[in-house]
Amino acid sequence: MKPLLLDQAPEAWDLGEAPAYRRRQIAEWIFGRRVTAFGQMSNLPAALRHDLAARYDLEPLALARRQGSADTTRKYLWALRAGDFVESVLIPANPGIDGDRAGRWTLCVSSQVGCAYGCKFCASGLDGWKRHLTPGEIIGQVLAAEADSGVRVDNLVFMGMGEPLANYAQLMTALDRLNAPSPSGLGIGARHVTISTSGLAPQIRRLADDPRQFRLAISLHGATDPVRERIMPINRRFPLAELLAACEAYQRRKRKMITLEYILIDGINDELTEAHTLVRHARRLHAKVNLIPYNTVEGLEWRRPPRERIRAFAEVLQRAGVTATVRLEKGHDIDAACGQLRLKEKAVA
Ligand code: SAH
Ligand code: SF4
Repeated sequence: MKPLLLDQAPEAWDLGEAPAYRRRQIAEWIFGRRVTAFGQMSNLPAALRHDLAARYDLEPLALARRQGSADTTRKYLWALRAGDFVESVLIPANPGIDGDRAGRWTLCVSSQVGCAYGCKFCASGLDGWKRHLTPGEIIGQVLAAEADSGVRVDNLVFMGMGEPLANYAQLMTALDRLNAPSPSGLGIGARHVTISTSGLAPQIRRLADDPRQFRLAISLHGATDPVRERIMPINRRFPLAELLAACEAYQRRKRKMITLEYILIDGINDELTEAHTLVRHARRLHAKVNLIPYNTVEGLEWRRPPRERIRAFAEVLQRAGVTATVRLEKGHDIDAACGQLRLKEKAVA
């Protein structure tokens, strides 16, 4: 397989004898005009286009399947060059939620093929971990979703398949390119990027040292060790005390509001005592809480709690003055909880 052009920074591209300004022209074609073939770069000499095509692949992934739902959320299954599949979900912003304005688009991207952390409720981890995504494969999801949909992505959330902080170096290389202003990147500012982690405490501290102001979301899903451990094996490696201390360090350093993600699963983590403990964590971290009614995964027995229980859980938080939203569902009908589409693809393959 040829190297992927998007895996390298523009400064590193091998352009042979071509003059330096060609680099900028090529970057402008890719990141500015979003072309997907060297042949379309009409201001380059034919010989250079030919050399580039001989040396590099430009497209990291191809559309394998698209599912759209009535509320215009679109879910993409991409085939990577080596034949693996990953997913992205394109979501229109909810006016009023997270301060987003209508007309803005968020793309939920994957960072790995599969996931090693094996959370019991999650489709991405069911089959184990296969490999990290390269920077080009991460950037490629944004370019391909934009090319397919015709919209410009405003926000990125790393809540697709995989654990982004376990793929730290390649994630940061991808973010360099995604953050860089046009024409050397896509110009998506760090404030518009949310990195979600299942709780890799050392990498959270490492992220705190990065000067960029990414948003951080923690997949908490349990407010006490016994509850969290039952559904998230990572909690044995980094128990709550260690995770929360890392989050506190992050928050002190960045002065940014962390989001605690909390999937509500019937009979597993929806006791109101758990909500009261969650209040303490949220207050300590100055965090807001995002409650997510569990999305049923084929082959797993978990269910979402009844509506009244979800409301009661949210009220405990809200009465205590903690900002808590119940995620309005988009794409429940298209298996938008990541990892689900890929599993189906594997089942039919
Ligand atoms: N590995 C990282 C990033 C992936 S995030 C992390 O866990 O944070 C994927 C998000 O979707 C996580 O918050 C995860 O808990 C959530 N999720 C996974 N399966 C889900 C399901 N069936 N219903 C609702 N949310 C789910
Ligand atoms: Fe991996 Fe995140 Fe799914 Fe857990 S929730 S298995 S860490 S993708």
